[in-house]
Amino acid sequence: MFDNYEVWFVTGAQLLYGGDAVIAVDAHSNEMVKGLNESGRLPVKVVYKGTVNSAKEITAAFKAANNDAKCIGVITWMHTFSPAKMWIHGLQELHKPLLHFHTQFNKEIPWETMDMDFMNLNQSAHGDREFGHIVTRMRKPRKVVVGHWQDPQAQAKIAVWMRVAAAWADAQDMLIVRFGDQMNNVAVTDGDKVEAEMRLGYHVDYMPVNNLMKYYDAVSDADTKEMVAVYFKEYDHDAALEQEGTEAYQKVYNSAKAEVALRRLLTETGAKAFTTNFDDLGEFDQIPGLASQRLMAEGYGFGAEGDWKTAALYRTFWFMSQGMGKGCSFLEDYTLNFDGARSAILQAHMLEVCPLIAEQKPKLEVHRLSIGIDSETARLVFTSKPGEGVAATIVDMGNRFRLIVNKVECIASKPLPQLPVASALWIPQPNLEVGAAAWILAGGTHHTAFSYDLTVEYLEDYAEIAGIEMLVIDEHTTIPEFKKELRMNEIYYLLNKALV
Ligand code: MN
Repeated sequence: MFDNYEVWFVTGAQLLYGGDAVIAVDAHSNEMVKGLNESGRLPVKVVYKGTVNSAKEITAAFKAANNDAKCIGVITWMHTFSPAKMWIHGLQELHKPLLHFHTQFNKEIPWETMDMDFMNLNQSAHGDREFGHIVTRMRKPRKVVVGHWQDPQAQAKIAVWMRVAAAWADAQDMLIVRFGDQMNNVAVTDGDKVEAEMRLGYHVDYMPVNNLMKYYDAVSDADTKEMVAVYFKEYDHDAALEQEGTEAYQKVYNSAKAEVALRRLLTETGAKAFTTNFDDLGEFDQIPGLASQRLMAEGYGFGAEGDWKTAALYRTFWFMSQGMGKGCSFLEDYTLNFDGARSAILQAHMLEVCPLIAEQKPKLEVHRLSIGIDSETARLVFTSKPGEGVAATIVDMGNRFRLIVNKVECIASKPLPQLPVASALWIPQPNLEVGAAAWILAGGTHHTAFSYDLTVEYLEDYAEIAGIEMLVIDEHTTIPEFKKELRMNEIYYLLNKALV
């Protein structure tokens, strides 16, 4: 799934130690990269790009990384001492994500045989600090991973960063199509689309719903029926739903037609995400919620009510977590359930929850929905799996984007016989009182991208690469400390532009 991507491995050294050292550094680097690739723990192939011994070589390597479409990031490691002024021009050039791997070829010191030559050749403890200084001095974002290159924990940290770097590359080429505008008067889903493109990479376009209606009108009866057959095959449903000529069947049929139309438009425009607005649905007979549910499961970003920031974040979540298995969704905070330490928030939307998070086989049902278009409406109904995950949102603070991440625990919901929509029920960490208070103080949305597979580390790497603010609400959060962080960040982001 990340087969088209590469991460480059660049080893730092200098020529002070002679030709034998150059040969040894190169041989060690080759062996390490081979070992990393053969570990089976890295989702992206590592390509050794040689040892760099001078400013010219460093700059050339980083310029090449910038210009190579397959290269999604660079790993650097200083085998010997590599005077860091040599790295200044190269680092000024580098626009791809950077990971500094503080490792060493040999795992342990060879106590009995170690001499001065060995120490000069194997001085990462020395060289990586020199390199780290200049990266910090230049205020360059990067991830630092410390550990022996064969250590599964160090490899796991590299794997996280690789998935994030891949999603970052994906976002730099992301078109988000908005059918309709923001829902009128809603503040939190709006924001600066120019700044978003400069900072986060993706491009947001408006698309008249009439364009989508042209696709809708052009979908053939045969193509629609083929999609309807897929629904009946993949999902539980009442047998009566298959009865042609009934209103319920017609609603399923029209939903299938909407899905075919949406997918065609997204494919032809190359869009990776889309938003809808239930106040602006053209000639649709019902909200195309079933289509949104299924397109999310395919990896298309989705945001309701014109929420392009969450649509982009969902796409990024899906992209990062490909093949990890437990699933992700766009979700919306709806209703609270106060129950002591188990107090929780019901997550749903009118319809648009991704079936990847379903615990049981989703059921295809048709019920009346009065919001937007008052109509019988097809949808997939299910509840989410139990388990831990992360919920995240990005808000526009006026002078910066803020990523807010909350660790949550999904718990079993009681049956909701009168609410036939997909839903999740979660306890925010550390508990509802602190978790929700911190989220509200941070200005977080009622929309989130949610994942069972991702951890805070993924979002930390994402915020680092993007250079945006990140606030984490987890088991350690207390309101007084969180408020301090909010105040400190206000000052930091005011001063930051003056520093960099
Ligand atoms: Mn909403």
